[in-house]
Amino acid sequence: MTTVALKDVSKVFSDGTVAVDKVSLDVADGEFMVLLGPSGCGKSTVLRIIAGLEEPSSGAVLLGGEVANGLPPRERGVAMVFQDFALYPHMTVGDNIAFPLRLSGLEQDSRTERVSDVASVLGIGDVLGRRPNQLSGGQRQRVAMGRAIVRRPGLFLMDEPLSNLDSGLRAELRAEISALVREMGVSTIYVTHDQAEALTMADRVAIMRKGVLQDVGTPTQVYGRP
Ligand code: ADP
Ligand code: ADP
Repeated sequence: MTTVALKDVSKVFSDGTVAVDKVSLDVADGEFMVLLGPSGCGKSTVLRIIAGLEEPSSGAVLLGGEVANGLPPRERGVAMVFQDFALYPHMTVGDNIAFPLRLSGLEQDSRTERVSDVASVLGIGDVLGRRPNQLSGGQRQRVAMGRAIVRRPGLFLMDEPLSNLDSGLRAELRAEISALVREMGVSTIYVTHDQAEALTMADRVAIMRKGVLQDVGTPTQVYGRP
């Protein structure tokens, strides 16, 4: 697990769009932070900046207390899950989950053990031999999460991971994700436009509007008591 600190981070795209406007935000070790706000307010851009997929126009990004500006994505110890699961269609579930371990050069026996551990935590241990097109939407999203966490990242970034699923499945996976990241103790930033998700999952919620961070606090601090 790792800490995150954004200091006055801004992003202005080449067409002049100010996607992120002087955002400062701290995420503690093992904290579950939900970044909440309407579509287009800059949430994904913040995540992409933390992951190193986008460089900020100004401001500093610190990971574990070290400046990460300019550091390539692979060297950040960060894993990211998107709403379109982006699994490799020609690979089995097991091979999809094992792929990052293979890239990192972990040997076969250790790969097999890690993949089965992660798969059993996610309840997909019985479908490791299938291909993505033989899975339900919920199973596919579990595989995508498995592939992200199998390398034991210090920071887990999720961008609307449940928005393509139906509401019953969303509620189920919401609870699973909370349990999973707390069990791993991994620091997490979870992007959503769904207030119910924010309220049920977050240690703290950061509310964004039009590129600006408006409010940060526990669900009770931000929304008051029900
Ligand atoms: P959210 O994740 O909250 O929906 P985004 O971070 O995706 O918001 O986008 C924030 C703003 O930046 C939007 O106005 C979007 O249209 C704009 N934007 C995102 N990516 C680019 C880009 N590559 N070039 C220009 N504008 C962009
Ligand atoms: P391959 O063995 O296909 O060349 P890897 O060496 O990358 O691919 O191993 C992929 C890993 O995926 C295996 O170590 C194993 O953990 C897991 N795996 C793949 N398919 C299955 C399966 N049907 N049952 C259990 N585990 C599997």
